[in-house]
Amino acid sequence: MKVLYLCTELYPFLKTGGLGDVSAGLPPALQALGCEVRLLMPAFPPLHQAAPVQQMVAPLPRAPTPWGAPPDLPSAHLVLAHLPGVAQPVYLLQAPVLFDRPGNPYLGPDGHDWRDNASRFAALSWAGALLGQGLDPQWTPDVLHGHDWHAGLMPAYVRAFVDAQQPTPATVFTVHNLAYQGIFPAALFPQLGLPPAMLDVHGVEYFGQLSFMKAALRYADRLTTVSPTYAQEIQQPAQGMGLDGLLCERAGVLTGILNGVDEQVWNPATDALLPTPFDAQTLDNKAVVKRALQERLGLAVRHNALVFGVVSRLTPQKGLHLLVPLLDELVQRGGQLALLGQGDEALEQALVDAALRHPGAVAVRMGYDEDTAHAVIAGADVLLMPSVFEPCGLTQLYGLRYGSLPLVHRVGGLADTVVDCTLENLDDDSATGFVFDAFTADALRHALGRAFALFRRPQAWRRVQQQAMAQRFDWATAAHHYLAVYRSATLSRPAQQPRLEEREPHVRRHRL
Ligand code: ADP
Repeated sequence: MKVLYLCTELYPFLKTGGLGDVSAGLPPALQALGCEVRLLMPAFPPLHQAAPVQQMVAPLPRAPTPWGAPPDLPSAHLVLAHLPGVAQPVYLLQAPVLFDRPGNPYLGPDGHDWRDNASRFAALSWAGALLGQGLDPQWTPDVLHGHDWHAGLMPAYVRAFVDAQQPTPATVFTVHNLAYQGIFPAALFPQLGLPPAMLDVHGVEYFGQLSFMKAALRYADRLTTVSPTYAQEIQQPAQGMGLDGLLCERAGVLTGILNGVDEQVWNPATDALLPTPFDAQTLDNKAVVKRALQERLGLAVRHNALVFGVVSRLTPQKGLHLLVPLLDELVQRGGQLALLGQGDEALEQALVDAALRHPGAVAVRMGYDEDTAHAVIAGADVLLMPSVFEPCGLTQLYGLRYGSLPLVHRVGGLADTVVDCTLENLDDDSATGFVFDAFTADALRHALGRAFALFRRPQAWRRVQQQAMAQRFDWATAAHHYLAVYRSATLSRPAQQPRLEEREPHVRRHRL
């Protein structure tokens, strides 16, 4: 099965969060199951620069579509590139006017969305749909798999080709975070090149505007999201972001599939960024890693201090505003905080203030830094993720792998992957961390209290660490589930005419 994977981030070249890790982990796992996977990404500078050899595929045609004008885009073309360390070929969408910009792929230097984001990401989706129509005569995918709102229009374009009686691949769309929807003014609709009928409440219209995410939820053959619990939560008003009704309607084609851990990057036995490796049998070595973390961040070097780690985007989603008022108490109880993050200015300031109040006990590093991320995740005793909502969460999976017990709010993927240290769970050796239910300071305080209590019982602590490290959330398992979704998506398609190039090999299928 040929799968085209549309995404905007790819570790280690470009990553703002878990999305980049997923694009690095899932395609090779799919390939190992026999899928032939290629990626399609905008030619952002880090990708473009990493691929010195690029083979021209085709310009994006500007001819009218069967339903009207094509998207109004600057000149663009596709190249096929091979990125070092990436086994799957990558189509790069070259459109310097849209993508040749430094820094964050979505935001300008002022921290606001680029003003032309609608065109930038419509271009990605349009290129994906055209590859599905045979734009590369050497390779036509059976499945187009889009990720998050950046690829949200792809299923809409494909639906337009279906409605125009053209053979098309099946479409699968994965929601990594419903909170980011790609919302734009309705006035931009004409430049997107979609059939006019799609500007409708049963199409891409969203409370008088346009939502790229909604387009995908409406038109993709199959939908997935990144944990079973989040798949349920987004069908409720509280987390449905105004799309819960549509998601309920489409519940029959929506599946929750947990993300995996990339063992090449996140494995304490082989992690070259650690001062010493360790595993479940050599947990004493973790003390060396903890000490290195304390030294690195300027924390007092005390082996009996319970070190809480945070590696996170500092956005309201991550729930760290609940932690800030508890920090003085955490320090009084002998705890330490090692935090790496960046984002919300007020939250950054509150954390810096706490660090100034508690030198040697609260250390914060603002910024994005892979090495420090590994140091914190590996060296902490407890990894804090009090997220308000969390589609899957990868950081807690890394914490489990490194015996850094996750302390999490019972939502989304956190609920699906961490087992609380209740007495029963300790008794039957299923406990792997600390889980609190209500999103309140009191509930978080109690969970912190449970962590302190367990830490005073080193044998019990060690058993929970070993149980945590025995958990396996791997990409091979996830890939099996995705393959089942791809199969059902292709089978769901009404019987199609043979593809045009199969009947008339000299004819290019998109015929625009
Ligand atoms: P999200 O995708 O919502 O940001 P996840 O937990 O799924 O959250 O994934 C976050 C990923 O980004 C993890 O790999 C984590 O280590 C990494 N990360 C988050 N913040 C930073 C940071 N400031 N520096 C380095 N890595 C970070």
